[in-house]
Formats: sequence, structure tokens, C-alpha cells
Amino acid sequence: FIEVRNLKKSFGPLEVLKDLTFNVEKNDVLAIIGPSGSGKSTMLRSLIQLEEVEGGSIAVDGDHLVKDGLYAKPADSKKIIAKMGMVFQQFNLFPHLTVKQNLELASKLVKKEQAKEYSDRSIELLEKVGLADKRYEFPSRLSGGQKQRVAIARALMMNPDILLFDEPTSALDPQLTKEVLQVMKKLAEEHMTMIVVTHEMEFASNVANRVIFMDKGLIVEEGNPQEVLKSPKELRTKQFLNY
Ligand code: ATP
Ligand code: MG
Repeated sequence: FIEVRNLKKSFGPLEVLKDLTFNVEKNDVLAIIGPSGSGKSTMLRSLIQLEEVEGGSIAVDGDHLVKDGLYAKPADSKKIIAKMGMVFQQFNLFPHLTVKQNLELASKLVKKEQAKEYSDRSIELLEKVGLADKRYEFPSRLSGGQKQRVAIARALMMNPDILLFDEPTSALDPQLTKEVLQVMKKLAEEHMTMIVVTHEMEFASNVANRVIFMDKGLIVEEGNPQEVLKSPKELRTKQFLNY
């Protein structure tokens, strides 16, 4: 569903993505693991053009966002990026909007739907993440786990074909982490396609069907969780996993 070929990205002299090639199939739950600074966030941000790459290709559902370093026209790239929803480590909720307004803002701006339609959907999605009773609260009155579940519901509002998560639980304590992972597990069971950058090895081994280990802007090893997490072949993977 997503094809990434020979992706290259530098910040000044620092080569952050050196030559990344991987695929994501429909219904995949792909976990990306790797040390700090290995380029995981940059890779994820590149998929939705929050970072511009210098070389390589990204195609979503057969349409190129970037082909050999050349970007699609804005009207086209907008459509491609709209197929992806992103959930950030720091939630990125709008503090001056209620939970329900956070969910509905984008639909309101896009003006493709009647208010009733997106209002019904936002309630439905809040029920899905267990927060319908918090719909009139402001984000400051929610726990970190609740904020992150709102962020997930908000990402689902646009009906994305794939969800991207950048360390969605690393700002949370273990109990709140559990709530968020539960929601993500449920999405996986409903066959949502997901790319999850994570330090949660339990999630990677229990929920993901594929794991990529990245280091220094390169994919060092990939395979199913059993292969990569339980019997890694590469020295760097073993070191990272403390084997
Ligand atoms: P972490 O696990 O700590 O989140 P990461 O694998 O997500 O790490 P990235 O955030 O992708 O790593 O960063 C990769 C490298 O690129 C780091 O060395 C970082 O300092 C650098 N970097 C990231 N963003 C920028 C930027 N906007 N300007 C300059 N350097 C950057
Ligand atoms: Mg990161």
C-alpha cells in the first residue's frame, strides 16, 4: 500500500535517511524500532511531507507523492497525504477547543460534510476510544492517556487508509500506556493499516506482524516479530535488544 524506495534526507551535513526502502501492505501493522537519532521520526514525517526528502520515492496506493526526489503537484500531494493520519508523541491537541471540537475542526474546515454527519462520527469515534463522556472537556482536564486516545480518534475522523504513530506512549506512565495500546490493538484487530514507531517491545511482538529495526538512517533488519525480536541476525539489532 505504501512503497518507499531509496529515500534520502539530510539536515545540513547530517545524513538522517541514507537509503531507505520498504513496503507496507494493506492490513500490515509495522513496528519501527531503533535507537534515538536513527531517523525514525524523520522517516514518518517524510511520509506526510512534514519533511521534504532529497532523493527517492514514496508511493501511496500507487500514486507518487515523490518520485526520484521530485514532488507531485500540491493538489495531488494533498490527496495522497489525506490517506494517512498521524498521531504524535505529544498529542498536539488544540488547547482552546473541546475534545469534540478537536475532532471536528478539520471536517468543519474541509466543508465536505454536513455538521450532523461529522458530529455523529465524532461521537461514534469517541465511544470507540472510550471517551464519549469527555466530549465537552478541554484537553487540559484530561490525563495523558486520554489525550492520546482523543488524538487517535481525531486522526480517524478523516477516514485514513493508514495510521502513523510516532512513539504514541512514550510520554505516558505504564497504566496510561496500557489504555492507549489497548485502543491500538483494537484498531489492529479491525485490520487498520498502521506504522508504529515504538519502544514498546511487547506491543511490537504481540500486535505487529512486521518489525523493522533502523539504525543510523538505514534499515538493518526486518521480518516478523519472532525473527527480529526473538532471534535477530544482525549484531546491531542484538545490541539494541540487549542480547
Ligand atoms: P528518537 O528515538 O530520539 O525520537 P528518531 O529515530 O526519531 O529518534 P529523528 O528525530 O528522526 O530520530 O532524528 C534523526 C537525526 O536527525 C537526529 O540526529 C536529529 O538530531 C536530526 N534532526 C531531526 N530533525 C532535525 C531538524 N529539523 N534539524 C536538524 N536536525 C534534525
Ligand atoms: Mg523520534
